[in-house]
Amino acid sequence: MTPEIIWFVYLLLIIAVIIALIRVGKLTGPGEHPPARTCPVCGSDLAQGETLFADEIRKNEKESELRIKGCPHCYKKGGQKT
Ligand SMILES: [Zn+2]
Repeated sequence: MTPEIIWFVYLLLIIAVIIALIRVGKLTGPGEHPPARTCPVCGSDLAQGETLFADEIRKNEKESELRIKGCPHCYKKGGQKT
């Protein structure tokens, strides 16, 4: 093999590695796997759009706390627990 061919093969190899790295980066990039959301009360997995029920307790002008009541799986509006 002439040195030109060796360089050409070497260059192709580098390009292939770069393309592979870009693909891996896209697959594991942010947004592909959103963090799992679980209910802190019962531990159920929450689907997209499912929200927690909570009461806001205002302590003063600046501070307020949230008292989490539960999710659609463990808390029903009206205070009935299942
Ligand atoms: Zn729950």
